[in-house]
Amino acid sequence: MTNPTPESSEPRTVSNFLRDQIAEDVRTKKYGDAAIQTRFPPEPNGYLHIGHAKAICLDFGLADEFGGKTNLRFDDTNPEKEETEYVESIQKDVRWLGFDWEKLCYASDYFGQLYEWAIQLIRAGKAYVDDLSADEIRQHRGTLTEPGKDSPFRNRSVEENLDLFTRMKSGEFPDGSRVLRAKIDMASPNLNLRDPVMYRILHATHHRTGDAWCIYPMYDFAHGQSDSIERVTHSMCTLEFADHQPLYRWFIDSLGIFPSQQIEFDRLNLTYTLLSKRKLLQLVNEKRVSAWDDPRMPTLSGLRRRGFTPEAIRAFCASIGATRTNGITDIEMLEYFQRDDLNHRARRAMAVLHPLKVVIDNYPTGQSEFVEVQNNPEDPSAGTRQVPFSRELYIEHDDFREVPPPKYYRLSPGKEVRLRSAYFITAQSVVKDAAGNVTEVHCTYDPASRGGNSPDGRKVKSTMHWVSAAHAISAEIRLYDKLFTKPDPSDFPEGGDVFDNLNPNSLEILAGAKLEPSLANAKPEDRYQFERVGYFCVDPDSSETMKIFNRTLALKDSWAKIEKKAGA
Ligand code: ATP
Ligand code: MG
Repeated sequence: MTNPTPESSEPRTVSNFLRDQIAEDVRTKKYGDAAIQTRFPPEPNGYLHIGHAKAICLDFGLADEFGGKTNLRFDDTNPEKEETEYVESIQKDVRWLGFDWEKLCYASDYFGQLYEWAIQLIRAGKAYVDDLSADEIRQHRGTLTEPGKDSPFRNRSVEENLDLFTRMKSGEFPDGSRVLRAKIDMASPNLNLRDPVMYRILHATHHRTGDAWCIYPMYDFAHGQSDSIERVTHSMCTLEFADHQPLYRWFIDSLGIFPSQQIEFDRLNLTYTLLSKRKLLQLVNEKRVSAWDDPRMPTLSGLRRRGFTPEAIRAFCASIGATRTNGITDIEMLEYFQRDDLNHRARRAMAVLHPLKVVIDNYPTGQSEFVEVQNNPEDPSAGTRQVPFSRELYIEHDDFREVPPPKYYRLSPGKEVRLRSAYFITAQSVVKDAAGNVTEVHCTYDPASRGGNSPDGRKVKSTMHWVSAAHAISAEIRLYDKLFTKPDPSDFPEGGDVFDNLNPNSLEILAGAKLEPSLANAKPEDRYQFERVGYFCVDPDSSETMKIFNRTLALKDSWAKIEKKAGA
């Protein structure tokens, strides 16, 4: 793995063995003059997550690099779990990530062809109808150390198999009563080759083919041939499919069809993150998160709503490359790429999350003025904006301490600080409520320090953000943190549950934040750096009257580190 210290967030070219393999195949003309063809084959049974982003970047990215094409193919062989909602969200997310497909395909488009091929294998004596129950098939399968046992139906005649299979198709038999199996080798050391099931009976309505079929091909009988039909040259998938590759090849060889080549790479695993669609669905169904696009979810829609950018996700994927061994990547690495991207691109704004009133006693009552503030110090072309300043302001509660601890350079009685792009102010006195909490800080300002510098060259150690009380807009702020408390969420004691490791503080809602007025025009998905606070993005739940901002990521907080070090 490479050290993530790029100059910018543009995807970099990290060597990866898939690229090397494709380059070699192009050089040796393994597929003649045919262009490289890849596919991304999601099962439409959930929303795409950051692990899929890795696969998408490899499938689309590598084809692109070599002048090839990529299909988006829905592996929709399982009618029971698949929904149109997923089909739509997947297309949206692939496009959002920055890719477009050559063809939009569905494994269900090939049901007719797959059926023909099943007949062809029966005729060749390479497939048979088995009447054993699912349990019995499992019992006959053997183990890694013991060979399996032949089914008593294994040696049915071709005629009988043809007759039974066509009757399976025409709906004569109930679910689960019979299956079609490949006749390969019940003693194979590879369990996938012990006469795998090709077709099962399922009287279920399919999201695309409706009730046209009551037998459905197994994923393993559909995947390799779908690749072949689309003339996929490089079929990249994750390592858990390596043991299935000999089966896909057996089908392709037995049928004499286009030899797509499968290559397996490592699954993305991220610390503090679950990347199993089944578990993510459970989080949604059990209402532990608001929806698939809850900003705490590792789904692309969740990351988008959180404020992550496709550029940063692609840069992250490019940096992790692809290997042949599974590992775990630190979530901080993804966050690094996101901060880096937003640091370059996000407009700055001033927002006070925990407001404390500041009154500037020597500033004229009823007066206000505009100060000019840079939109992005990293990007002068982003220009400047005018921010209103007046006698009453808000600052962060934490930016004032009546009794400052050592090395606390922010506002405290008698201490002078800079208000960003505005003036130097000095705290003079405080107002407290009955409980003794500071509710107002009275200050004086130096009119000569307009713009944030004093003509006498006086230095201040701290620059703070602020908003003018009369001009501020109120907003709801949603502070998100990691969804799980453990680097490996699946690390729980016996009898426990991964959800025991959910972070009870993964969402904190602040109702009374005060924001500079320019943010009144922010649109859903607009991203900002709130100065000194973090990166934020407008949530689509926002209304005309109430903006909601999601925290994408905190800035790295050096003060928190100092305090932690000091054991405070
Ligand atoms: P799950 O097991 O959670 O349902 P899946 O792998 O079955 O996930 P698919 O929809 O079949 O999900 O995945 C589509 C493609 O994305 C496959 O090629 C798969 O290998 C790849 N993929 C899925 N998860 C990851 C991951 N964590 N890292 C890299 N690639 C992944
Ligand atoms: Mg899958």
